[in-house]
Amino acid sequence: MRSMYFTEEHEAFRQSFKIFLQKEVIPNVDKWEKEGFIDKEVFKKFGEMGYLGLNYPEEFGGLNLDLFYTVVFLEELQKVNSGGFAAAIWAHTYLAMTHLNAEGSPKIKENYLIPSITGEKVGCLCISEPFGGSDVAGMRTTATKKGDTYILNGSKTFITNGIYSDYLVVAAKTNPSLGNKGMSIFVVDRESVGLSSTQLVKLGWKASDTAEIAFDNVVVPANHLLGEENKGFSYIMQHFALERIVMGVNAHARAEYALEYAIQYMSERTAFGKTIDKFQALRHKVADMASEVEMCKEFNYSIINRLDKSQYVVKEASMSKLMSTKIADEVIYSCLQMLGGYGYMEDYPMARLLRDSRLGPIGGGTSEILREIIAKIIIDKKEYKPIT
Ligand SMILES: Cc1cc2nc3c(=O)[nH]c(=O)nc-3n(C[C@H](O)[C@H](O)[C@H](O)COP(=O)(O)OP(=O)(O)OC[C@H]3O[C@@H](n4cnc5c(N)ncnc54)[C@H](O)[C@@H]3O)c2cc1C
Repeated sequence: MRSMYFTEEHEAFRQSFKIFLQKEVIPNVDKWEKEGFIDKEVFKKFGEMGYLGLNYPEEFGGLNLDLFYTVVFLEELQKVNSGGFAAAIWAHTYLAMTHLNAEGSPKIKENYLIPSITGEKVGCLCISEPFGGSDVAGMRTTATKKGDTYILNGSKTFITNGIYSDYLVVAAKTNPSLGNKGMSIFVVDRESVGLSSTQLVKLGWKASDTAEIAFDNVVVPANHLLGEENKGFSYIMQHFALERIVMGVNAHARAEYALEYAIQYMSERTAFGKTIDKFQALRHKVADMASEVEMCKEFNYSIINRLDKSQYVVKEASMSKLMSTKIADEVIYSCLQMLGGYGYMEDYPMARLLRDSRLGPIGGGTSEILREIIAKIIIDKKEYKPIT
């Protein structure tokens, strides 16, 4: 057993999910990395197996399982070694769908959440804008009420699944003069007139179709508002805890993958008449890295355990993402060094891992912003409260 949090059922799920990835994903990853997007049909295959609804209610086709199944899912996705592929899947499942489930009306759940769980519809979450991502409250996209519609104008950027998603979960100002108290969330159909997207070229996450999106007088039915008008900022903040712990788990999993690979490589590579895993300088480095990764893992599991019991873990989730992404970057950088020149070659996994991992401290709340949140909680005694 990997940890006290996992049962035999979790481990059986891990084994069957690994087999699925081996068959449906791993043979295609290099092609998807080259093409810049993944084959959309793979979502349906994930959906058929129930993987997109692990933590969602059974009435919408989900499996209503505890969050440790999600942990297994995220960990194994990272071990495919395509941050872009993993992001396409988890951005749909844990960014876009979270809002549909928490704030969607019965009609929205029927039309968007159910087909998202089956993989027939793919979603994305649009918060960041060209003029600023960290300052969520400063966003400029507007949604102006007109009869029984809203008219959307503005733009979003760096959106994962921004090209091929079927619907977009979009944050916009419904009352710009109220700042963060004047923001709302909408579901917008891909086919909407006036919506356009442009794929962006990136350092890593190559298999993910990151895009800039423009809204030019896009008409959105009023019943596509998620939850209540002007409550969007609280909804975003509410879901940040799950998003950030997801990114913390992703980070410890890719660091663990890098370390396992490096240890295996070191046991085979020889220099000066012995395998390089006999050099004390490298052995101590491995010992340090393994200790750091293990600490992140156990911390992340303990936060997942609390989140699963509906505890409010905004501080701990911020700490998880801050430290796990930092340690993952450092570990992967050092593991690449263990491979010498081969670490720098595309035929070996470290080059892609290094590129993909670099996004960890940026996407979904930069490390600087996380430090701000943590500092406000522990120094200023600021209390972030759940929505009641
Ligand atoms: C590949 C990729 C995928 C992404 N996917 C999505 C997605 O699906 N949906 C989505 O909405 N967004 C997505 N993002 C956007 C991501 O969340 C933002 O890039 C991130 O929040 C930072 O925003 P920014 O890039 O505008 O940087 P800025 O906000 O302009 O920040 C620039 C720098 O200033 C620092 N900074 C800003 N404010 C402060 C402060 N108060 N104190 C100290 N330092 C500060 C930042 O930490 C950063 O180092 C994605 C980004 C990338 C690169």
